[in-house]
Amino acid sequence: MAGIKHRRHEREGNAADQRAAARRLRAMYQHLVERFGPQQWWPANSAFEVVIGAYLTQNTAWTSVERSIANLKAGGALSVAGLRAVGEEELRQLIRPSGFMLRKAAAIKAFVAFLDAIYGGEMDALRRDAALDRARVRERLLALPGVGPETADAILLYALGAPAMVVDEYLRRIATRHGLVPENAKYAEVQALAEAAFAPGRERESANELARHYNEFHALVVQIGKLHCGRVPKCEGCPLAWDLERVGGAPSAAAPAPRGAPGRRKASDSR
Ligand code: SF4
Repeated sequence: MAGIKHRRHEREGNAADQRAAARRLRAMYQHLVERFGPQQWWPANSAFEVVIGAYLTQNTAWTSVERSIANLKAGGALSVAGLRAVGEEELRQLIRPSGFMLRKAAAIKAFVAFLDAIYGGEMDALRRDAALDRARVRERLLALPGVGPETADAILLYALGAPAMVVDEYLRRIATRHGLVPENAKYAEVQALAEAAFAPGRERESANELARHYNEFHALVVQIGKLHCGRVPKCEGCPLAWDLERVGGAPSAAAPAPRGAPGRRKASDSR
C-alpha cells in the first residue's frame, strides 16, 4: 500500500514537473518572439521543394543543399514529373553536393513513387490528407526509406502546413541544457514537451495557427542554436540565459554532448 502511494506521488510529481517545464519553454518562446520577431522560415519556392530539401539536408549543411537544389533546377528535375523522368544515377550526380547521394537519391525516388502510388503524384492531395489525418500521413512517411521522425515532421510542418513539432539537435540541446528533459531523452519525449508548451492555446487555435507557432518556434530555436547554443554554449548574452539563472546557472561547456555539427541546419534522422 505504501509502495502504491509512493508511486502515485512520484507520478503526480513527474506530471507537475512536466507542466512546469512546458511553461518555461513557452515563456522562452515568447521571449524569443519579442526579441527576434517573425521568422517566416524555410527558403523554398514550393511544397515539393521543401520535401526535397528535407531529404537533402540530412547530415549536411544547408549551403550544400542549396547547390544540389540549384543543380536539380538547372537539370529540370525539381518537380514530381522531373524526378520521375530522371534516372537514379543522374539524380545522384545532381545531388552530389549534399553527400550520401546513393541513399538520398534512392530515398527521393521512393518518395516520388509513394506520391504517385497513393496521391496520384499530387502534392495537394497529400496536403489534403495531412489536414484530414496527420497521424496517418506521418506513419506513411515514416515507412519510407530515409525518413525518420525529424524529416517526417519537417515535411508535415513545412511542406504540408500540418501542426507537427519538429525536434532537431538545437532544440534537444536547449531542452537538456536547461534541464527541461533528461540528457538521454528520446525524440518523442522532447516533442511532447514542446507540444505541451503550446497546449494551453491549442483548443482555441486552428491547425493553421498552431502550425504557424510551431514553424516560428522551430525557426527561433535554430536561431539560438546557431548564435549561442552550439557545441560549447555561449550563455553570456544569450536571450535565454534568464531561464538558466532561475534554475541554477550556466551548464558546463561539455554537457550535454550534442550529436549534430554546429551550423547544420536540420534533420539528422536518416535511417
Ligand atoms: S547558450 Fe546557454 S542560455 Fe543560451 S540556450 Fe544554450 S544553454 Fe541556454
